[in-house]
Amino acid sequence: LYVDAGLAAGEAFEADRNQFHYLAHVIRAEEGAELLLFNGRDGEWLARISYPTRKKIMLHPVEQTRPQPPLADLTYLFAPLKVGRMDYMVQKAVEMGAGRIQPVMTQHVQGKPGKSDRLAANIIEAAEQCGVLAVPELLEPVKLADLLEKWEPGRRLIFCDEADAHQNPVSALRQVREGKLALLIGPEGGFSDEERAMLRSLPFVTPIPLGPRILRADTAAVAALSVIQATIGD
Ligand code: SAM
Repeated sequence: LYVDAGLAAGEAFEADRNQFHYLAHVIRAEEGAELLLFNGRDGEWLARISYPTRKKIMLHPVEQTRPQPPLADLTYLFAPLKVGRMDYMVQKAVEMGAGRIQPVMTQHVQGKPGKSDRLAANIIEAAEQCGVLAVPELLEPVKLADLLEKWEPGRRLIFCDEADAHQNPVSALRQVREGKLALLIGPEGGFSDEERAMLRSLPFVTPIPLGPRILRADTAAVAALSVIQATIGD
């Protein structure tokens, strides 16, 4: 269960409304029940619950069961889509090992960057569901040109572009030497010719194809993350 509070032995804290509902009504946890907590900072903790009153639950961290791992060094950059599909895409990016997630505004973007609260809640829920203790960071939306202009030295950008259909993504990725990576998936309308030319001219960009079919952006995200993890991932 994800909590905001700091986790340390002997430092009990009160479950908030949503946690109370989940513990008391969904899983019907009883006095003394044990559960695992994480907050994205202090690793994973075994905790016990107590009910000082019928309307209040206290969570008592007992011992750390896993140390806090570092954030995965893979940034997932995506052009916003319709809300429901973006929810799916962000959830899958967490499951597939992205450490930072950032909306990127390109020329043909149709969706809005998305409410950051909703995206952040999705990220936490996905981390909870798949046991990721280092909750990925959600970064502010950025324009593609600004992002490229201030690119972090030493980070390679894997650019998914259907224009390279004849190539093999695995051999393209095997050439990648940098450990720090970012993955860019375009909007439903694709990249503009100008954006494509700009991306291809940059020395830190590696374009990769994902096969001869045009995939929806959310499918492309899952496919690209799988190939990256299978080829050069941890
Ligand atoms: N409307 C665009 C077109 O017809 O050219 C298609 C855009 S596609 C739906 C959305 C994004 O998914 C693309 O910008 C690209 O990043 C990625 N993508 C989809 N299919 C791909 C493929 N076969 N190879 C590489 N990237 C792909």
